Amino acid sequence: MCYAIPAQIIEIKYPKAIIDYYGEKRNILLDDTKVKVGDYVYAQGGVFVRKIPASEAKKILKVFEDIFFELKKVDASLSKLDQDKIPANLLAVLQKVNLQKSLKKEELLTIAKLNNPAELSVLYEIANHIRQREHGNASCVHGIIEFSNYCQNSCFYCGIRQEQKIPRYRMSINEIVQAAKKAVKDFDFKALVLQSGEDYYYTDEILAEIVRKVKKIGVLVFISIGSRSKETYEKLYIAGARAALIRFETSNPHVFQTLRPPTTLDQRIDLIKHVRKIGYVLATGFILGLPGDDSEEAILNNILLTKSLAPDMYSFGPLIPSKNTPLATRSPISIELVLKTIALARIADPNSNILVTTALETLDANAKKQGLLAGANSMMINLTPTKYKKLYHIYDNRAGLDAEVAQSVQETVDLLKSLGRSPTDIGL
Ligand code: SF4
Repeated sequence: MCYAIPAQIIEIKYPKAIIDYYGEKRNILLDDTKVKVGDYVYAQGGVFVRKIPASEAKKILKVFEDIFFELKKVDASLSKLDQDKIPANLLAVLQKVNLQKSLKKEELLTIAKLNNPAELSVLYEIANHIRQREHGNASCVHGIIEFSNYCQNSCFYCGIRQEQKIPRYRMSINEIVQAAKKAVKDFDFKALVLQSGEDYYYTDEILAEIVRKVKKIGVLVFISIGSRSKETYEKLYIAGARAALIRFETSNPHVFQTLRPPTTLDQRIDLIKHVRKIGYVLATGFILGLPGDDSEEAILNNILLTKSLAPDMYSFGPLIPSKNTPLATRSPISIELVLKTIALARIADPNSNILVTTALETLDANAKKQGLLAGANSMMINLTPTKYKKLYHIYDNRAGLDAEVAQSVQETVDLLKSLGRSPTDIGL
């Protein structure tokens, strides 16, 4: 979004390139053969978005130069560890991660079982420290447009499952493109997630047209459309989509089949792997707190499955019950469990990119900040037009429904600045 600055290409080895921000290097995916070494570009989520004229880029970089180094100082101070205050059990974890040794499952499970608030607080600090060491203070903010709340499926935990008697909407191609143009023109977003239920009203051809038109605006097109066919994902890649969000939801095949009939976990994983093979930047993960999947070991298994899929971004959201669904009476999980999971994921996979999902804000108004300080480095802002936003009722009491986009953007920029996070891309 507006919190993004250009970088200079210093090396190209298709389909990858190295870009430079004031001497800091990032790897990105580059699929534009017209871009040359020396050009200035925007990148988001590790993907080339568009080239910008050198004169314009230099002007922006000059304005940001002092801020860039100031933010680094703030982040360095917030992520500094006082080793004397770290309990022996956690110090051993840190030392192992510092030596780039993978922690064994039993060691990770011991961390997953921590419950003492003082220890948890140190755990978050360690995770934040690792995040800083691995990624510097780079951050990534994507916009999300929820273009349809129709879904043919009946996932037990979902407030827009097909049985729900709720007002439904579908945005027209023109409405989606206008919402994307507004996001780019008014707020300078560089990456947009187009999300819907599994809605076959949007044929492959319609989806491809949407992707082509949104891509033409000059943004990274990220799709989140569920278990559509492999061919659909292939066609949308050809149309210009370069990133896909597709969670496996749970690593437990039995829980998967119970809560997401009639599909299986194997089918979902097969699709995720195929999406990766096509070349998409992949965001994947799970739902935290599903019944039968909420023990410490189950959560760790979910993290380890995410890691094994080698995603470019972890995306796991808390289960928040939605009325009139089979899981309506479940208690929402605690913010502490989410923070512990973010920290655990950071320790299990130090170089990962971890998203603070919009659902987290529903648990706690301060959640974005807490998540970013527990090891996360990416965020999303809901850009769905106001008249539709409240209808995308995937769970109850969604946060931010009344906030104007301008307000959400400003709050996010203020938060990132206060934490010393920089407008540079996180890279691959
Ligand atoms: S979770 Fe996704 S696929 Fe399942 S019912 Fe909800 S929108 Fe549909």
